[in-house]
Amino acid sequence: SSRPEADSLVGAIDQGTSSTRFLVFNAKTAELISQHQVEINQSFPKEGWVEEDPKEILQSVCECMERTSEKLIQLNINISNVKAIGVTNQRETTVVWDKETGEPLYNAIGDCSPLGPSVPIFCLQSPTSQPVWLDLRTQSTVEKLIKKTPGKNKNHLKDKTGLPISTYFSALKLRWLMDNIESVAEAVQTNRAVFGTVDSWLIWCLTGGKNGGVHCTDVTNASRTMLFNIHTMQWDPELCKYFDVPIEILPEVRSSSEIYGYMVCNEYCLGDQSAALVGQMCFKDGQAKNTYGTGCFMLKNTGVKPVMSDHGLLTTVAYKLGRDQPVYYALEGSVAIAGAVVRWLKENLGIIKSSSDIEKLAATAGTSYGCYFVPAFSGLYAPYWEPSARGIICGLTQFTNSSHLAFAALEAVCFQTREVLDAMNQDSGVPLSQLQVDGGMTANKLLMQLQADILCIPVVRPSMSETTALGAAMAAGAAEGVCVWTINPDGMTSVTSEKYQPKINPDGESSDQFFVPNNLELWLHLHKLTIP
Ligand code: ADP
Repeated sequence: SSRPEADSLVGAIDQGTSSTRFLVFNAKTAELISQHQVEINQSFPKEGWVEEDPKEILQSVCECMERTSEKLIQLNINISNVKAIGVTNQRETTVVWDKETGEPLYNAIGDCSPLGPSVPIFCLQSPTSQPVWLDLRTQSTVEKLIKKTPGKNKNHLKDKTGLPISTYFSALKLRWLMDNIESVAEAVQTNRAVFGTVDSWLIWCLTGGKNGGVHCTDVTNASRTMLFNIHTMQWDPELCKYFDVPIEILPEVRSSSEIYGYMVCNEYCLGDQSAALVGQMCFKDGQAKNTYGTGCFMLKNTGVKPVMSDHGLLTTVAYKLGRDQPVYYALEGSVAIAGAVVRWLKENLGIIKSSSDIEKLAATAGTSYGCYFVPAFSGLYAPYWEPSARGIICGLTQFTNSSHLAFAALEAVCFQTREVLDAMNQDSGVPLSQLQVDGGMTANKLLMQLQADILCIPVVRPSMSETTALGAAMAAGAAEGVCVWTINPDGMTSVTSEKYQPKINPDGESSDQFFVPNNLELWLHLHKLTIP
């Protein structure tokens, strides 16, 4: 077998909604050498409010790094072979901290981590995996802003940002904090507050915190704030004025693959969905991937020009792999609830004990038996962007039981993905011929087969499913000055995958495996019914 100790290694911090991971890859073969994962607690101070403690996030990162280095030592691998570390993070989650005093202003939990170089102040997170995960506290902010916008148009800022005005993006969360948390407002006024998404927070801490930490972010995370102009690739003074956010509190924007700092180690950064795009080797115009985690995020590489969607998709920055490299853009279809519906069946209905049990339960039915489940728990994202939508379950009969409901929940994830794919095909005019997939839910083989059936195209899942972390590691390893990794636009041939072929023909006739054909038309109709 290979001798990893002789090769360069690259690490990745993968800071997700439900957990933090640290992974180490062989930079030559992309083989996963070692990893550690820690769950993250979420708190729900009110219905629709979700918070995470930034200090706990930081601590989880440090713990994962420590445990992974112990595992490397056990494998007889010298830790100094790790040449660089990449960061990939939940994108829109908003953190505001005090760069001078380290005084907690909000939601700082009295836990003293010896690892954290400074005290985090606030973290407002979205998305989450709870039943009402729309962060309602920003909904009134959204309404207020839309009211004062010409024509009350939620797409007023779309030309510059590629995004509709929605509770989802960081500027709204930041505005809410400044309006509602006195200590945040005060820290902003006195020039002590700094804003960042989780990547910025982590990089600042890991490069020294209040003793000279680097305050930066990358273009992919910046493109999700609604303060960033995706054409000029800079913070936009007009957007800052619109949200009344002082431009000085924003981090410096860098490319996704360059050295940010050295304090603890070198780091490179990509938002999680962009990292998955890189990890899936979607470097060519027209290639797409869908990540099935708490929500679903489909990104299609549209090359070096931003494409504005006419069908409810977002235009976002895919990556910029080096200071002098071109910016690549993506069209994105975000689905709010995917894995979260599985968690809901587990935690709210108690019909499964663990997320993976849903596959067995749904398979015992093999059909939804005409039951439809639209999990619009917290409104709908793409392509509707309708925060007031709410979920429904219908088509129940005397015969319906938990297995049909489980099956309908998996179908719902597939139908939502189908809607996003249809929007993407309409925007680009060139239908996608196969879909690359990754994320926690793709361990579910029944879901993968259903997805291929409902999309009528093959679904391809890499056997190494940690593509998000791999993408961040690649961005790190390929940075100028590190260069242990050459990113090959034709993809890495050594990556093996599983392919799920559609078993339902495009006329909607099912194979004998499924009792009731998946009725897309009916589902679409129901989906729209959830919008009041
Ligand atoms: P995130 O990055 O959003 O934290 P992950 O990619 O780690 O998400 O995936 C976790 C989500 O996937 C959870 O919501 C969980 O309910 C769901 N999930 C995990 N395993 C399965 C499975 N075998 N079948 C269906 N859903 C699953």
